Amino acid sequence: MKLKSLICIGLAALMLTGCTQTPDTTTTATTTTAPVTTPAPKEHLHLEEGTAFPASFNLEDSEATERLFDMCEILDGVIVKVRPKSQTITMSAKVNGKKFTLNVNLSGSNGNTSPEQIVTCAKLFWYCYPQMYARFAAKTTPTTITLKFEDFGYEVASASGNEVHIHDKWLKNNPEDFDCLTHEFSHIMQGGWDGNWLPTSGEDTYMIERFADYCRYLYSFKRGYYNDMCWSLQTSQTESSYVTGVRFWVWLDYTYSTKDIDIIARMQKEITEKNFPRADWTNDGKAWDVIFEGTGALGKTLDELWDEYIASDLDTPTTKPREQGGRNALEGKAPLRQSIRDRYPEADDYLKVK
Ligand SMILES: [Zn+2]
Repeated sequence: MKLKSLICIGLAALMLTGCTQTPDTTTTATTTTAPVTTPAPKEHLHLEEGTAFPASFNLEDSEATERLFDMCEILDGVIVKVRPKSQTITMSAKVNGKKFTLNVNLSGSNGNTSPEQIVTCAKLFWYCYPQMYARFAAKTTPTTITLKFEDFGYEVASASGNEVHIHDKWLKNNPEDFDCLTHEFSHIMQGGWDGNWLPTSGEDTYMIERFADYCRYLYSFKRGYYNDMCWSLQTSQTESSYVTGVRFWVWLDYTYSTKDIDIIARMQKEITEKNFPRADWTNDGKAWDVIFEGTGALGKTLDELWDEYIASDLDTPTTKPREQGGRNALEGKAPLRQSIRDRYPEADDYLKVK
């Protein structure tokens, strides 16, 4: 088997549901003079050190559940609210001045994913989503995301619009695979992608999944703490071209993006804005001239870049760590994950998420 592949929604769903509607902000002027009261800030509900997670949530006990989800220690200002009726836990916080909201919906869950695993999934969101948003978001990219744990539907996980679904049994059976969610959260950046306006190879709109796995590698929770134990970047031995190669795009970005020119973010923008039909995205298509403008990749075809990549010393090092949390051999060769942080220093906030 190749990668532990994710089952993702098709392009059609992305095309149909990629955007959120901007709320109607038209207001009627009022002359009310009622005093404005500001609620007192809520005291943080930190878990006592060493507190064990319960075997299951009791959403009726809002305070105990809020305490489990409280992330004030790891990200300032997260407000947690439990809604027992809809079996939803809502977390909101501002990250770098932008408000994000995560709704964790357990109404389809059968309790196969443990409370500790669910909280880890929420932490993962706060770690990876604002980072990806800062780099890739379009005007319509949602900042309110719903994460549903469901004991039905896709075997692994899926994304559509501003919703991500993960099967309730997936983490029970694959307890290290949290970063399948990093992959799914990155699909939310692809609202507006359309199969007629992006790189394709026959029927394969390959860049959709390559982009999501590129993000999975670079934004994986705790710099790959879980991810690298259970999922790895393939080499050119098993991925034979840029159409199938995830590592190629990691290499391309690392090698040719600069502090001021971000090749992957440019590509995301051109695709989202539907600036080039698929005929312009061929091996030597003119879309690449725009994306590579100002970089050392300009004037090279993707096949030429592929040959350069497989001759580089980044094609073969493994991304499997010797031990959990240890640095993998590829990162030892080139600090790929750090290079993204260096280019986007505002991401420092997210690294507090432990
Ligand atoms: Zn996918």
